[in-house]
Amino acid sequence: MQTSPRQDSEEIVSVFHRTARCACGSASITVEGDPKVHAVCHCTNCKRRTGSAFGISAYFFRESIVATSGQMKVYAFHHAAQNHDQERHFCASCGTTLFWYISTQPKLIGIAGGCFADENLGEPTMSVSHGKKSGWVAVPDSWKTIQE
Ligand SMILES: [Zn+2]
Ligand SMILES: [Zn+2]
Repeated sequence: MQTSPRQDSEEIVSVFHRTARCACGSASITVEGDPKVHAVCHCTNCKRRTGSAFGISAYFFRESIVATSGQMKVYAFHHAAQNHDQERHFCASCGTTLFWYISTQPKLIGIAGGCFADENLGEPTMSVSHGKKSGWVAVPDSWKTIQE
C-alpha cells in the first residue's frame, strides 16, 4: 500500500493506492481508495477460474484506476447463473485473471482480490452464490449472503 499526494483545489489529500499483480508479476493494475463491493463468490465459474473454493471479487469505480501494466488477453462469455455478460482480462504470460467487466455494473471494474496479496485489502463483506458454497467453507455471520 502506498500513499501519494494529490492536489485537490487548495488542499492536499492523501489517497491510498493498491496494486494487484498477476502470479508472474508482469501484469498489474493500481487503484485508489477502497472497494465499493467486496465479496467472495462460490459460483462454479469462479471455482474454475481460480482453481479454488471461491473467488474474491473486489469492485472499484472504473475512475479509480490509476495505472495498468503488462500484456493482457481477454475472453468474453455470458455468465448464465448470474445473467450478465463478462469480459475477463488475464495476463498473457501466466494466465492469472486480474480484472473483469460485467454488463450489469457498467461503472465498476472487478479485480481479483487475491491478486492484491499482501496489500491489505481488508475483509470482504458479502458472500455471493452462497448456495454453491462448499460445505467446509464458513463465512462470518456479519456478512451479507446472496444465494444466487
Ligand atoms: Zn503474469
Ligand atoms: Zn462467481
